[in-house]
Amino acid sequence: MKRIIYLPFDHLHRDFGALKSADPSSDLIVLVESARMVSTGVTGRNWHRERLFFLISSARHFAQSLELEGFTVEYVKAPTTVSGLEAVQAKYAGLPIICAEPSSFRQFAALAAFGVKFIENDFFLTPRPLFQSWAEGQKSYLMESFYRKQRTRLNILMDGSEPAGGAWNFDKENRLPPPKKYEGPLYLEHERDEIDRQVAAEIGHEMTTTWATSRQGALNQLENFIANHFAEFGPLEDAMTTDNWALHHSLLSPYLNNALLHPSEVVSAAVKAFNSGGIPIESAEGFIRQVIGWREYVNGMYWFLGPDYRENNQLNADRKLLPLFNDPAATQMNCIKETVSDIQERAWVHHIPRLMLLSNLALVTGTNPQEFLEWMREVFIDASEWVMVPNVIGMGVHADGGQMMTKPYAAGGAYISRMSNYCKPCVYNPKLRTGETACPFTTLYWDFLDRHKESFAKNHRMSQQVFGLNRLSDLPELRIRAKEVLKGLEAGTI
Ligand SMILES: Cc1cc2nc3c(=O)[nH]c(=O)nc-3n(C[C@H](O)[C@H](O)[C@H](O)COP(=O)(O)OP(=O)(O)OC[C@H]3O[C@@H](n4cnc5c(N)ncnc54)[C@H](O)[C@@H]3O)c2cc1C
Ligand code: SF4
Repeated sequence: MKRIIYLPFDHLHRDFGALKSADPSSDLIVLVESARMVSTGVTGRNWHRERLFFLISSARHFAQSLELEGFTVEYVKAPTTVSGLEAVQAKYAGLPIICAEPSSFRQFAALAAFGVKFIENDFFLTPRPLFQSWAEGQKSYLMESFYRKQRTRLNILMDGSEPAGGAWNFDKENRLPPPKKYEGPLYLEHERDEIDRQVAAEIGHEMTTTWATSRQGALNQLENFIANHFAEFGPLEDAMTTDNWALHHSLLSPYLNNALLHPSEVVSAAVKAFNSGGIPIESAEGFIRQVIGWREYVNGMYWFLGPDYRENNQLNADRKLLPLFNDPAATQMNCIKETVSDIQERAWVHHIPRLMLLSNLALVTGTNPQEFLEWMREVFIDASEWVMVPNVIGMGVHADGGQMMTKPYAAGGAYISRMSNYCKPCVYNPKLRTGETACPFTTLYWDFLDRHKESFAKNHRMSQQVFGLNRLSDLPELRIRAKEVLKGLEAGTI
Protein backbone atom coordinates (compact mmCIF):
# COMPACT_ATOMS: atom_id res chain seq x y z
CA MET A 1 0.00 0.00 0.00
CA LYS A 2 1.24 3.48 -0.85
CA ARG A 3 -1.32 5.77 0.75
CA ILE A 4 -4.31 5.92 3.03
CA ILE A 5 -7.44 7.52 1.66
CA TYR A 6 -9.63 8.83 4.47
CA LEU A 7 -13.31 8.96 3.53
CA PRO A 8 -15.53 11.16 5.70
CA PHE A 9 -19.15 9.96 5.81
CA ASP A 10 -20.15 12.70 3.38
CA HIS A 11 -17.69 11.77 0.61
CA LEU A 12 -19.42 8.58 -0.52
CA HIS A 13 -18.91 8.76 -4.28
CA ARG A 14 -16.57 6.58 -6.32
CA ASP A 15 -16.00 9.22 -9.05
CA PHE A 16 -15.35 12.31 -6.94
CA GLY A 17 -13.10 13.44 -4.12
CA ALA A 18 -10.09 11.32 -3.16
CA LEU A 19 -11.61 8.16 -4.63
CA LYS A 20 -11.63 9.35 -8.21
CA SER A 21 -7.91 8.56 -8.54
CA ALA A 22 -7.97 5.54 -6.20
CA ASP A 23 -6.47 2.18 -7.08
CA PRO A 24 -7.21 -1.02 -5.13
CA SER A 25 -3.60 -2.19 -5.48
CA SER A 26 -2.05 0.87 -3.82
CA ASP A 27 -4.71 2.66 -1.75
CA LEU A 28 -6.05 1.66 1.63
CA ILE A 29 -9.49 3.12 2.34
CA VAL A 30 -10.35 4.25 5.86
CA LEU A 31 -13.71 5.23 7.32
CA VAL A 32 -14.06 6.20 10.98
CA GLU A 33 -17.27 5.86 12.97
CA SER A 34 -16.54 8.14 15.90
CA ALA A 35 -18.13 7.87 19.34
CA ARG A 36 -18.56 11.64 19.16
CA MET A 37 -20.99 11.00 16.33
CA VAL A 38 -22.77 7.91 17.61
CA SER A 39 -23.18 8.38 21.32
CA THR A 40 -25.61 10.75 22.95
CA GLY A 41 -25.04 12.72 26.14
CA VAL A 42 -21.69 14.08 27.28
CA THR A 43 -19.47 12.96 24.38
CA GLY A 44 -21.99 13.09 21.60
CA ARG A 45 -25.04 14.92 20.32
CA ASN A 46 -28.69 14.17 20.57
CA TRP A 47 -28.98 13.29 16.87
CA HIS A 48 -32.28 12.12 15.47
CA ARG A 49 -31.89 8.32 15.24
CA GLU A 50 -33.14 8.38 11.64
CA ARG A 51 -30.21 10.63 10.71
CA LEU A 52 -27.65 8.54 12.55
CA PHE A 53 -29.05 5.39 10.98
CA PHE A 54 -28.94 6.96 7.52
CA LEU A 55 -25.35 8.23 7.85
CA ILE A 56 -23.88 5.06 9.33
CA SER A 57 -25.74 2.60 7.16
CA SER A 58 -24.88 4.56 4.00
CA ALA A 59 -21.19 4.55 4.99
CA ARG A 60 -21.20 0.81 5.69
CA HIS A 61 -22.96 0.02 2.40
CA PHE A 62 -20.45 2.18 0.60
CA ALA A 63 -17.51 0.51 2.36
CA GLN A 64 -18.92 -2.85 1.29
CA SER A 65 -19.14 -1.72 -2.35
CA LEU A 66 -15.46 -0.70 -2.26
CA GLU A 67 -14.48 -4.09 -0.82
CA LEU A 68 -16.43 -5.82 -3.60
CA GLU A 69 -14.40 -3.75 -6.06
CA GLY A 70 -11.20 -5.14 -4.54
CA PHE A 71 -10.18 -2.36 -2.13
CA THR A 72 -8.81 -3.05 1.32
CA VAL A 73 -11.12 -1.11 3.63
CA GLU A 74 -10.56 -0.34 7.31
CA TYR A 75 -13.87 0.64 8.91
CA VAL A 76 -12.80 1.81 12.37
CA LYS A 77 -14.82 2.61 15.47
CA ALA A 78 -12.96 5.11 17.66
CA PRO A 79 -13.57 7.90 20.18
CA THR A 80 -12.82 10.59 17.55
CA THR A 81 -11.94 10.71 13.86
CA VAL A 82 -8.35 11.62 14.64
CA SER A 83 -7.89 8.81 17.17
CA GLY A 84 -9.31 6.40 14.55
CA LEU A 85 -6.80 7.63 12.00
CA GLU A 86 -3.99 7.34 14.55
CA ALA A 87 -4.90 3.69 15.11
CA VAL A 88 -4.83 2.94 11.39
CA GLN A 89 -1.56 4.80 10.89
CA ALA A 90 0.00 2.81 13.72
CA LYS A 91 -0.97 -0.37 11.86
CA TYR A 92 0.28 0.85 8.46
CA ALA A 93 3.27 2.86 9.64
CA GLY A 94 4.55 5.63 7.44
CA LEU A 95 1.70 5.82 4.94
CA PRO A 96 0.56 9.34 4.12
CA ILE A 97 -3.16 10.13 4.52
CA ILE A 98 -5.07 12.00 1.84
CA CYS A 99 -8.64 13.24 1.83
CA ALA A 100 -10.77 15.63 -0.21
CA GLU A 101 -11.20 18.97 1.60
CA PRO A 102 -13.72 18.38 4.40
CA SER A 103 -17.10 20.09 4.50
CA SER A 104 -16.83 21.94 7.83
CA PHE A 105 -14.33 24.31 9.42
CA ARG A 106 -14.00 22.09 12.46
CA GLN A 107 -13.14 18.94 10.52
CA PHE A 108 -10.84 20.88 8.21
CA ALA A 109 -8.83 22.19 11.17
CA ALA A 110 -8.70 18.84 12.99
CA LEU A 111 -7.51 16.90 9.94
CA ALA A 112 -5.04 19.58 8.84
CA ALA A 113 -3.53 19.59 12.35
CA PHE A 114 -3.14 15.80 12.14
CA GLY A 115 -1.21 16.17 8.89
CA VAL A 116 -3.81 14.94 6.41
CA LYS A 117 -3.09 16.18 2.87
CA PHE A 118 -6.11 17.61 1.08
CA ILE A 119 -7.14 17.48 -2.53
CA GLU A 120 -9.83 19.79 -3.91
CA ASN A 121 -13.40 19.19 -2.75
CA ASP A 122 -15.33 18.62 -5.99
CA PHE A 123 -18.61 17.50 -4.42
CA PHE A 124 -20.14 20.80 -5.56
CA LEU A 125 -20.44 22.45 -8.95
CA THR A 126 -18.65 25.60 -7.80
CA PRO A 127 -15.03 25.46 -6.62
CA ARG A 128 -14.55 27.37 -3.35
CA PRO A 129 -12.08 29.91 -4.89
CA LEU A 130 -14.53 30.66 -7.72
CA PHE A 131 -17.30 31.48 -5.26
CA GLN A 132 -14.89 33.59 -3.22
CA SER A 133 -14.01 35.69 -6.24
CA TRP A 134 -17.72 36.15 -7.11
CA ALA A 135 -18.54 37.22 -3.53
CA GLU A 136 -15.60 39.62 -3.33
CA GLY A 137 -16.98 41.49 -6.33
CA GLN A 138 -20.49 41.97 -4.81
CA LYS A 139 -21.93 44.83 -2.77
CA SER A 140 -24.64 42.56 -1.39
CA TYR A 141 -24.55 38.80 -1.87
CA LEU A 142 -27.80 38.31 -3.71
CA MET A 143 -28.55 34.65 -4.49
CA GLU A 144 -30.34 35.76 -7.66
CA SER A 145 -27.17 37.38 -9.09
CA PHE A 146 -25.13 34.28 -8.25
CA TYR A 147 -27.77 32.00 -9.76
CA ARG A 148 -27.89 33.84 -13.09
CA LYS A 149 -24.11 33.62 -13.31
CA GLN A 150 -24.33 29.89 -12.59
CA ARG A 151 -26.91 29.34 -15.33
CA THR A 152 -24.66 31.07 -17.84
CA ARG A 153 -21.38 29.56 -16.61
CA LEU A 154 -22.73 26.00 -16.52
CA ASN A 155 -24.90 26.56 -19.62
CA ILE A 156 -28.01 25.08 -18.02
CA LEU A 157 -31.52 25.95 -19.27
CA MET A 158 -30.09 28.55 -21.65
CA ASP A 159 -31.09 29.53 -25.20
CA GLY A 160 -27.78 31.04 -26.28
CA SER A 161 -27.20 33.88 -23.85
CA GLU A 162 -30.89 34.11 -22.84
CA PRO A 163 -32.68 32.04 -20.19
CA ALA A 164 -34.86 29.21 -21.57
CA GLY A 165 -38.55 30.11 -21.44
CA GLY A 166 -37.77 33.82 -21.64
CA ALA A 167 -37.29 34.50 -17.89
CA TRP A 168 -34.78 33.71 -15.15
CA ASN A 169 -37.45 33.21 -12.58
CA PHE A 170 -40.97 31.74 -12.46
CA ASP A 171 -41.63 32.48 -8.80
CA LYS A 172 -45.08 33.90 -9.54
CA GLU A 173 -46.23 30.61 -11.07
CA ASN A 174 -44.59 28.66 -8.24
CA ARG A 175 -46.53 29.98 -5.27
CA LEU A 176 -49.77 28.01 -5.43
CA PRO A 177 -51.51 27.04 -2.19
CA PRO A 178 -52.21 23.31 -1.71
CA PRO A 179 -55.17 21.87 -3.63
CA LYS A 180 -58.32 21.18 -1.53
CA LYS A 181 -57.85 17.42 -1.14
CA TYR A 182 -54.51 16.24 -2.37
CA GLU A 183 -53.56 12.72 -3.34
CA GLY A 184 -50.22 12.62 -5.11
CA PRO A 185 -48.30 9.58 -6.33
CA LEU A 186 -47.09 7.28 -3.57
CA TYR A 187 -43.66 7.89 -2.11
CA LEU A 188 -40.90 5.41 -2.68
CA GLU A 189 -40.27 2.90 0.09
CA HIS A 190 -36.71 1.61 0.51
CA GLU A 191 -36.22 -2.04 1.34
CA ARG A 192 -33.91 -2.88 4.24
CA ASP A 193 -31.06 -5.41 4.26
CA GLU A 194 -28.73 -7.05 6.77
CA ILE A 195 -26.44 -4.00 7.06
CA ASP A 196 -29.45 -1.79 7.81
CA ARG A 197 -30.74 -4.23 10.42
CA GLN A 198 -27.33 -4.41 12.09
CA VAL A 199 -26.95 -0.61 12.28
CA ALA A 200 -30.50 -0.15 13.56
CA ALA A 201 -29.89 -2.73 16.30
CA GLU A 202 -26.59 -1.09 17.32
CA ILE A 203 -28.05 2.39 17.72
CA GLY A 204 -31.44 1.27 19.04
CA HIS A 205 -33.46 2.56 16.11
CA GLU A 206 -36.76 1.32 14.79
CA MET A 207 -36.19 1.35 11.04
CA THR A 208 -38.47 3.19 8.64
CA THR A 209 -38.37 2.73 4.87
CA THR A 210 -38.24 6.44 4.08
CA TRP A 211 -34.57 7.00 3.28
CA ALA A 212 -32.28 4.91 1.09
CA THR A 213 -28.90 3.90 2.48
CA SER A 214 -27.12 2.84 -0.71
CA ARG A 215 -26.05 4.34 -4.02
CA GLN A 216 -28.66 2.23 -5.83
CA GLY A 217 -31.39 3.40 -3.47
CA ALA A 218 -30.37 7.03 -4.01
CA LEU A 219 -30.46 6.50 -7.80
CA ASN A 220 -33.94 4.97 -7.46
CA GLN A 221 -35.05 8.05 -5.54
CA LEU A 222 -33.74 10.32 -8.30
CA GLU A 223 -35.48 8.25 -10.96
CA ASN A 224 -38.73 8.29 -8.99
CA PHE A 225 -38.58 12.07 -8.63
CA ILE A 226 -37.97 12.62 -12.33
CA ALA A 227 -40.71 10.17 -13.40
CA ASN A 228 -43.44 10.98 -10.88
CA HIS A 229 -42.85 14.39 -9.30
CA PHE A 230 -40.65 16.69 -11.37
CA ALA A 231 -43.39 17.96 -13.70
CA GLU A 232 -45.46 19.21 -10.77
CA PHE A 233 -42.57 20.32 -8.55
CA GLY A 234 -42.69 24.06 -9.27
CA PRO A 235 -46.26 25.29 -8.69
CA LEU A 236 -46.64 23.47 -5.36
CA GLU A 237 -43.09 23.91 -4.04
CA ASP A 238 -44.13 26.37 -1.30
CA ALA A 239 -47.41 24.67 -0.36
CA MET A 240 -47.91 22.78 2.93
CA THR A 241 -50.63 20.20 3.52
CA THR A 242 -51.43 17.51 6.03
CA ASP A 243 -52.78 15.41 3.10
CA ASN A 244 -49.31 14.59 1.81
CA TRP A 245 -46.05 15.04 3.69
CA ALA A 246 -43.74 15.93 0.81
CA LEU A 247 -45.95 16.96 -2.15
CA HIS A 248 -43.53 16.97 -5.11
CA HIS A 249 -40.26 17.70 -3.36
CA SER A 250 -37.42 15.50 -4.54
CA LEU A 251 -36.24 14.15 -1.13
CA LEU A 252 -32.73 14.16 -2.52
CA SER A 253 -30.92 16.41 -0.02
CA PRO A 254 -29.56 13.59 2.21
CA TYR A 255 -27.95 11.84 -0.77
CA LEU A 256 -26.58 15.06 -2.22
CA ASN A 257 -25.11 15.89 1.19
CA ASN A 258 -23.43 12.54 1.85
CA ALA A 259 -22.45 12.29 -1.85
CA LEU A 260 -24.35 9.13 -2.72
CA LEU A 261 -25.48 11.46 -5.52
CA HIS A 262 -23.41 14.22 -7.10
CA PRO A 263 -25.26 17.43 -8.04
CA SER A 264 -24.09 17.04 -11.66
CA GLU A 265 -25.97 13.71 -11.83
CA VAL A 266 -29.16 15.30 -10.49
CA VAL A 267 -28.90 18.28 -12.83
CA SER A 268 -28.18 16.06 -15.86
CA ALA A 269 -31.23 13.90 -15.13
CA ALA A 270 -33.42 17.02 -14.75
CA VAL A 271 -32.14 18.69 -17.93
CA LYS A 272 -32.51 15.45 -19.90
CA ALA A 273 -36.14 15.10 -18.77
CA PHE A 274 -36.86 18.74 -19.58
CA ASN A 275 -35.33 18.41 -23.06
CA SER A 276 -37.43 15.31 -23.78
CA GLY A 277 -40.61 17.35 -23.20
CA GLY A 278 -43.45 17.09 -20.71
CA ILE A 279 -41.77 19.12 -17.92
CA PRO A 280 -43.10 22.69 -17.70
CA ILE A 281 -40.43 25.38 -17.56
CA GLU A 282 -41.62 26.61 -14.15
CA SER A 283 -40.92 23.19 -12.64
CA ALA A 284 -37.63 22.73 -14.45
CA GLU A 285 -36.40 26.22 -13.52
CA GLY A 286 -37.72 25.98 -9.95
CA PHE A 287 -35.84 22.74 -9.32
CA ILE A 288 -32.63 23.71 -11.11
CA ARG A 289 -32.59 26.97 -9.10
CA GLN A 290 -32.55 24.95 -5.86
CA VAL A 291 -29.69 22.73 -6.94
CA ILE A 292 -27.32 24.99 -8.91
CA GLY A 293 -28.47 28.18 -7.16
CA TRP A 294 -29.43 27.84 -3.52
CA ARG A 295 -27.36 24.79 -2.66
CA GLU A 296 -24.16 26.11 -4.23
CA TYR A 297 -24.74 29.61 -2.89
CA VAL A 298 -25.24 28.38 0.67
CA ASN A 299 -22.08 26.27 0.54
CA GLY A 300 -20.11 29.16 -0.96
CA MET A 301 -21.38 31.55 1.71
CA TYR A 302 -20.47 29.11 4.51
CA TRP A 303 -16.82 29.18 3.45
CA PHE A 304 -16.85 32.86 2.51
CA LEU A 305 -18.35 34.07 5.80
CA GLY A 306 -15.92 32.16 7.98
CA PRO A 307 -16.04 30.04 11.16
CA ASP A 308 -17.24 32.83 13.49
CA TYR A 309 -20.34 33.56 11.42
CA ARG A 310 -22.33 30.86 13.26
CA GLU A 311 -21.99 32.83 16.53
CA ASN A 312 -23.85 35.90 15.21
CA ASN A 313 -26.71 37.23 17.33
CA GLN A 314 -27.25 40.73 15.98
CA LEU A 315 -30.86 40.95 17.15
CA ASN A 316 -29.74 40.08 20.71
CA ALA A 317 -32.19 37.19 20.89
CA ASP A 318 -31.73 35.42 24.21
CA ARG A 319 -34.84 33.32 24.82
CA LYS A 320 -34.18 29.66 25.64
CA LEU A 321 -35.37 27.04 23.15
CA LEU A 322 -39.14 26.64 23.55
CA PRO A 323 -40.39 23.22 24.78
CA LEU A 324 -42.59 22.79 21.67
CA PHE A 325 -39.49 22.16 19.52
CA ASN A 326 -38.95 18.87 21.31
CA ASP A 327 -42.52 18.05 22.19
CA PRO A 328 -45.47 18.66 19.87
CA ALA A 329 -47.80 18.18 22.84
CA ALA A 330 -46.32 21.37 24.34
CA THR A 331 -48.25 23.61 21.95
CA GLN A 332 -51.75 24.16 20.63
CA MET A 333 -50.46 25.81 17.44
CA ASN A 334 -51.61 23.30 14.85
CA CYS A 335 -48.96 24.22 12.24
CA ILE A 336 -46.12 23.68 14.73
CA LYS A 337 -47.65 20.56 16.27
CA GLU A 338 -47.94 18.95 12.80
CA THR A 339 -44.47 20.05 11.71
CA VAL A 340 -42.64 18.89 14.84
CA SER A 341 -44.52 15.56 14.71
CA ASP A 342 -43.46 15.13 11.07
CA ILE A 343 -39.85 15.80 12.01
CA GLN A 344 -39.99 13.29 14.84
CA GLU A 345 -41.40 10.72 12.43
CA ARG A 346 -38.99 11.08 9.52
CA ALA A 347 -36.41 13.84 10.23
CA TRP A 348 -37.60 15.95 7.31
CA VAL A 349 -39.96 18.74 6.33
CA HIS A 350 -39.52 20.90 3.24
CA HIS A 351 -38.05 24.38 2.99
CA ILE A 352 -41.22 26.36 3.79
CA PRO A 353 -41.95 24.73 7.19
CA ARG A 354 -38.23 25.08 7.98
CA LEU A 355 -38.27 28.77 7.05
CA MET A 356 -41.77 30.12 7.56
CA LEU A 357 -42.80 27.99 10.54
CA LEU A 358 -39.79 26.87 12.60
CA SER A 359 -37.33 29.69 11.85
CA ASN A 360 -40.10 32.28 11.75
CA LEU A 361 -41.19 31.17 15.22
CA ALA A 362 -37.62 31.32 16.54
CA LEU A 363 -37.23 34.76 14.95
CA VAL A 364 -40.41 36.41 16.23
CA THR A 365 -40.08 34.90 19.72
CA GLY A 366 -36.46 36.13 19.97
CA THR A 367 -35.08 32.62 20.53
CA ASN A 368 -31.32 32.43 20.89
CA PRO A 369 -29.98 31.67 17.37
CA GLN A 370 -27.30 29.25 18.53
CA GLU A 371 -29.76 27.19 20.61
CA PHE A 372 -32.13 27.06 17.65
CA LEU A 373 -29.28 26.18 15.26
CA GLU A 374 -28.17 23.29 17.49
CA TRP A 375 -31.70 21.94 17.54
CA MET A 376 -32.07 22.19 13.76
CA ARG A 377 -28.69 20.45 13.33
CA GLU A 378 -29.84 17.56 15.49
CA VAL A 379 -33.27 16.84 14.05
CA PHE A 380 -32.97 16.92 10.26
CA ILE A 381 -31.83 14.04 8.06
CA ASP A 382 -29.79 16.37 5.83
CA ALA A 383 -28.41 18.72 8.49
CA SER A 384 -24.78 19.19 7.54
CA GLU A 385 -22.98 22.07 9.24
CA TRP A 386 -22.17 23.92 5.98
CA VAL A 387 -25.82 24.02 4.93
CA MET A 388 -27.53 24.56 8.27
CA VAL A 389 -25.39 27.50 9.44
CA PRO A 390 -26.13 29.98 6.60
CA ASN A 391 -29.73 28.78 6.24
CA VAL A 392 -30.47 29.30 9.94
CA ILE A 393 -28.23 32.19 11.00
CA GLY A 394 -28.60 34.17 7.76
CA MET A 395 -31.88 33.23 6.15
CA GLY A 396 -33.92 31.81 9.02
CA VAL A 397 -33.41 34.10 12.00
CA HIS A 398 -31.58 37.11 10.51
CA ALA A 399 -28.95 36.90 13.24
CA ASP A 400 -26.24 38.21 10.90
CA GLY A 401 -27.65 41.74 10.64
CA GLY A 402 -28.52 41.22 6.98
CA GLN A 403 -25.18 39.97 5.62
CA MET A 404 -26.96 37.28 3.65
CA MET A 405 -30.60 38.39 3.28
CA THR A 406 -31.63 42.01 2.99
CA LYS A 407 -34.61 41.58 5.32
CA PRO A 408 -35.89 39.07 7.88
CA TYR A 409 -38.34 36.38 6.80
CA ALA A 410 -40.91 37.29 9.48
CA ALA A 411 -44.56 36.56 8.74
CA GLY A 412 -47.88 36.42 10.54
CA GLY A 413 -50.61 33.78 10.34
CA ALA A 414 -52.05 35.14 7.07
CA TYR A 415 -49.15 33.71 5.04
CA ILE A 416 -49.40 30.30 6.74
CA SER A 417 -53.16 30.27 6.30
CA ARG A 418 -52.83 31.01 2.57
CA MET A 419 -50.15 28.39 1.94
CA SER A 420 -51.42 25.48 4.05
CA ASN A 421 -54.43 23.67 5.47
CA TYR A 422 -53.15 23.98 9.06
CA CYS A 423 -55.30 26.89 10.21
CA LYS A 424 -58.86 25.57 9.78
CA PRO A 425 -58.68 23.01 12.61
CA CYS A 426 -56.45 25.23 14.79
CA VAL A 427 -57.73 26.74 18.05
CA TYR A 428 -56.23 30.06 16.95
CA ASN A 429 -57.41 32.45 14.26
CA PRO A 430 -54.76 33.69 11.82
CA LYS A 431 -56.68 36.94 11.24
CA LEU A 432 -56.62 38.01 14.90
CA ARG A 433 -53.66 39.70 16.59
CA THR A 434 -55.19 40.34 20.02
CA GLY A 435 -57.45 38.32 22.31
CA GLU A 436 -57.31 34.73 23.55
CA THR A 437 -57.80 33.14 20.14
CA ALA A 438 -55.33 35.38 18.30
CA CYS A 439 -52.82 33.43 16.21
CA PRO A 440 -49.46 33.54 18.04
CA PHE A 441 -47.68 34.14 14.72
CA THR A 442 -49.86 37.17 13.96
CA THR A 443 -49.43 38.69 17.43
CA LEU A 444 -45.70 38.03 17.57
CA TYR A 445 -45.06 39.24 14.03
CA TRP A 446 -46.24 42.74 14.97
CA ASP A 447 -44.56 42.56 18.36
CA PHE A 448 -41.27 41.61 16.66
CA LEU A 449 -41.53 44.63 14.34
CA ASP A 450 -42.38 46.80 17.33
CA ARG A 451 -39.36 45.57 19.32
CA HIS A 452 -36.97 46.23 16.42
CA LYS A 453 -38.65 49.15 14.70
CA GLU A 454 -35.76 51.55 15.22
CA SER A 455 -33.19 49.40 13.50
CA PHE A 456 -35.67 48.23 10.81
CA ALA A 457 -36.66 51.82 10.00
CA LYS A 458 -33.16 52.24 8.49
CA ASN A 459 -33.79 49.35 6.09
CA HIS A 460 -35.77 50.55 3.06
CA ARG A 461 -36.96 46.98 2.35
CA MET A 462 -38.70 47.01 5.74
CA SER A 463 -40.30 50.44 5.43
CA GLN A 464 -43.70 49.10 4.36
CA GLN A 465 -43.91 46.80 7.39
CA VAL A 466 -42.82 49.52 9.81
CA PHE A 467 -45.36 51.86 8.18
CA GLY A 468 -48.06 49.19 8.75
CA LEU A 469 -47.02 48.89 12.39
CA ASN A 470 -47.33 52.62 12.94
CA ARG A 471 -50.93 52.48 11.70
CA LEU A 472 -52.05 49.84 14.22
CA SER A 473 -54.63 51.28 16.59
CA ASP A 474 -54.41 48.39 19.09
CA LEU A 475 -50.67 48.38 19.75
CA PRO A 476 -51.01 48.65 23.56
CA GLU A 477 -53.32 45.58 23.69
CA LEU A 478 -51.08 43.77 21.23
CA ARG A 479 -48.03 44.30 23.44
CA ILE A 480 -49.93 42.84 26.41
CA ARG A 481 -51.10 39.85 24.38
CA ALA A 482 -47.56 39.28 23.06
CA LYS A 483 -46.25 39.01 26.63
CA GLU A 484 -48.98 36.46 27.43
CA VAL A 485 -48.19 34.47 24.29
CA LEU A 486 -44.47 34.34 25.04
CA LYS A 487 -45.15 33.23 28.59
CA GLY A 488 -47.60 30.59 27.37
CA LEU A 489 -45.13 29.31 24.78
CA GLU A 490 -42.46 28.97 27.46
CA ALA A 491 -44.92 27.13 29.70
CA GLY A 492 -46.10 24.89 26.83
CA THR A 493 -49.71 26.06 27.08
CA ILE A 494 -50.13 28.17 23.91
C1 LIG B 1 -33.92 27.19 7.89
C2 LIG B 1 -33.54 26.21 6.83
C3 LIG B 1 -32.69 25.16 7.13
C4 LIG B 1 -32.29 24.27 6.14
N1 LIG B 1 -31.42 23.28 6.46
C5 LIG B 1 -30.99 22.44 5.50
C6 LIG B 1 -30.05 21.42 5.81
O1 LIG B 1 -29.62 21.28 6.94
N2 LIG B 1 -29.65 20.59 4.81
C7 LIG B 1 -30.11 20.73 3.54
O2 LIG B 1 -29.70 19.97 2.67
N3 LIG B 1 -30.99 21.67 3.23
C8 LIG B 1 -31.45 22.53 4.16
N4 LIG B 1 -32.35 23.49 3.85
C9 LIG B 1 -32.79 23.62 2.46
C10 LIG B 1 -34.05 22.83 2.10
O3 LIG B 1 -35.04 23.03 3.06
C11 LIG B 1 -33.76 21.34 1.97
O4 LIG B 1 -32.63 21.16 1.15
C12 LIG B 1 -34.92 20.62 1.32
O5 LIG B 1 -36.08 20.81 2.09
C13 LIG B 1 -34.59 19.15 1.17
O6 LIG B 1 -35.66 18.45 0.61
P1 LIG B 1 -35.65 18.04 -0.93
O7 LIG B 1 -34.42 17.30 -1.24
O8 LIG B 1 -36.94 17.41 -1.22
O9 LIG B 1 -35.55 19.45 -1.63
P2 LIG B 1 -36.16 20.03 -2.99
O10 LIG B 1 -37.18 21.04 -2.64
O11 LIG B 1 -36.56 18.95 -3.90
O12 LIG B 1 -34.92 20.84 -3.60
C14 LIG B 1 -33.91 20.20 -4.36
C15 LIG B 1 -32.55 20.37 -3.73
O13 LIG B 1 -32.17 21.72 -3.68
C16 LIG B 1 -31.25 21.93 -2.59
N5 LIG B 1 -31.69 23.08 -1.81
C17 LIG B 1 -32.88 23.70 -1.88
N6 LIG B 1 -32.91 24.76 -1.04
C18 LIG B 1 -31.72 24.82 -0.44
C19 LIG B 1 -31.13 25.68 0.53
N7 LIG B 1 -31.79 26.73 1.07
N8 LIG B 1 -29.89 25.40 0.96
C20 LIG B 1 -29.21 24.36 0.44
N9 LIG B 1 -29.70 23.51 -0.47
C21 LIG B 1 -30.93 23.75 -0.92
C22 LIG B 1 -31.26 20.65 -1.76
O14 LIG B 1 -30.07 19.94 -2.03
C23 LIG B 1 -32.46 19.89 -2.29
O15 LIG B 1 -32.30 18.49 -2.23
C24 LIG B 1 -32.77 24.41 4.82
C25 LIG B 1 -33.64 25.45 4.52
C26 LIG B 1 -34.02 26.34 5.51
C27 LIG B 1 -34.93 27.46 5.14
S1 SF4 C 1 -53.82 29.88 13.23
FE1 SF4 C 1 -51.72 30.44 13.58
S2 SF4 C 1 -50.96 28.90 15.02
FE2 SF4 C 1 -52.84 28.10 14.15
S3 SF4 C 1 -52.20 26.87 12.40
FE3 SF4 C 1 -52.65 28.91 11.62
S4 SF4 C 1 -50.71 29.96 11.67
FE4 SF4 C 1 -50.47 28.16 12.95
